[in-house]
Amino acid sequence: MINLEIPKKAQTLVNQAYQAAAEVFRPISRKYDRAEHSYPAELDMLAALLDGLNSSGEGGAGAAGVRRREDDTKGNRNGGNLSTVLGAIEMCWGDVALLLSMPRQGLGNAAIASVANDEQLQRFAGVWAAMAITEPGCGSDSAAITATATLDGDEYVLNGEKIFVTAGQRADAVVVWATLDKSKGRAAIKSFVVEKGTPGFEVVRLEHKLGIRASDTAVLRFENCRVPKENLLGTPEIDTSKGFAGVMQTFDNTRPLVAAMAIGVARAALEETGRLLAEAGVTVDYDRPANTQHAAAAAFLQLEADYEAAYLLTLESAWMADNRKPNSLQASMAKAKAGRSVVDITLRCVELAGTLGYTEELLLEKWSRDAKILDIFEGTQQIQQLIVARRLLGKTSAELK
Ligand SMILES: Cc1cc2nc3c(=O)[nH]c(=O)nc-3n(C[C@H](O)[C@H](O)[C@H](O)COP(=O)(O)OP(=O)(O)OC[C@H]3O[C@@H](n4cnc5c(N)ncnc54)[C@H](O)[C@@H]3O)c2cc1C
Repeated sequence: MINLEIPKKAQTLVNQAYQAAAEVFRPISRKYDRAEHSYPAELDMLAALLDGLNSSGEGGAGAAGVRRREDDTKGNRNGGNLSTVLGAIEMCWGDVALLLSMPRQGLGNAAIASVANDEQLQRFAGVWAAMAITEPGCGSDSAAITATATLDGDEYVLNGEKIFVTAGQRADAVVVWATLDKSKGRAAIKSFVVEKGTPGFEVVRLEHKLGIRASDTAVLRFENCRVPKENLLGTPEIDTSKGFAGVMQTFDNTRPLVAAMAIGVARAALEETGRLLAEAGVTVDYDRPANTQHAAAAAFLQLEADYEAAYLLTLESAWMADNRKPNSLQASMAKAKAGRSVVDITLRCVELAGTLGYTEELLLEKWSRDAKILDIFEGTQQIQQLIVARRLLGKTSAELK
C-alpha cells in the first residue's frame, strides 16, 4: 500500500533544507533576481553543507537526483527519491533559481545518477553537471537531436549546438545528448559527459530571462570536441528494440524533481497570500463550503486544492521510483499538474494581493515569473499531457503525436 506520510528519517533533512531556504536563499532572493548573471557566491558554503547531507544518506536536499537501487526488493521503501523531492520542495520555497544554481546539484547530476555505470558514478562524483538536450531545431521532440558523436579511436568526437542549458556556464561539466547514427533514430541518442575546458567546447553566450534570473542559461557549441569513449553514459549499443529507453530513464527521475520545485514555489506564494488575507481580515474556513465564504477565501481554497493534488502526485511518482515501480506515467502526471498549478497559483496570488502583489516590495511577482519555466523545461505541459494520453490509451509515439 502506498504510504505518503513524510517518513521520519526524511524529517531532519526537510528541517535542514527549510532552514537553509529561509536563512540563505530568501535573504538574497531579490538581490540575484536583479543581478542577473552574477554568481551567488553565498551558495558556496551552503553547497559544501549539502554535500555533507547528501553523502550521509540516500538523496539530499538538492536537485542532483538519486540512483535506483537493485537490491532489497522487499517491503515499502521511502528512500532517496522521496527525500530528494521533499528537500527540493523546501529549497524552492526559498528560491528555485538559487537551487538551480547550487554547485553539484545540476540536472546533469540527476542524469548521471540515473544512467551512469558504477565506474562512471565514482569518476564523476563531486562534479557539477548541467544537462544539454535542447538545440535550435529541437526542443520537445528530443528524438530530433542533430548533435553528433562519432567514435574515433578511443574518443568520441562531438559536433553541434545546444541552447538554453541551465547552469551551462557555471557547471564543471555538461551531459550532452548526441546521436551516434542519425539513420538509426532515437535508439542511437546517447548522453556524454563533457568537462569544462575540453578543447572544442565553448560557452557562446548567456540568455536574459523572464524568471529564474539567478540561474545562468547558456548557449553551448561543440566543434570537433573529443571526449574519452568512457564518458558515454550507459551502453554504447544501439538497441532499436529499446528505442529511447536509456536516456529517457533520466526523465523518470528529473520530472518528479521539477514538479517538486513547482510545489515549493507554489507553497511560498500560498503562504504569503494566506498571511495577507489574514491581515486583511479574510478568514479561510476549511469546514464550510467555498461558495458560502468571502470570494478571496473561496479562491484560496481552490488554489490550495490544486497545490495538494500536485503535491500528492509528486510524492507518488517519487515513491514509485524508490520502490522500483515504472513511474513514467506518474512522473508526467506530477510534472503536468505541478507545472500548470504553480503558474495558476502564483499569478492568482499576485491578483489576490492587489497592487502589492505586483510590486517588488514582496516576492509574489518574482515567484509568478519564476513559475513559468517549471511548466516548460524537462518537457512542456503539452508534452506531459501527450505522454499521459499515450500511456493511458496504449498508443505509441508514432500513433499519437
Ligand atoms: C530558462 C530555461 C532553462 C532551460 N534549461 C534547459 C536545460 O538545462 N537543458 C535543456 O536541454 N533544455 C533546457 N531548456 C529548454 C526546454 O527544455 C525547452 O524549451 C522545452 O523542452 C521546449 O522546447 P522548445 O522551446 O524547443 O519548444 P517547442 O518544442 O518548439 O514547442 C513550442 C510549443 O509547442 C508545444 N508543442 C510541441 N510539440 C507539441 C505536440 N506534439 N503537441 C502539442 N504541443 C506541442 C510545446 O508544448 C510548446 O508550447 C530550458 C529552457 C528555458 C526557457
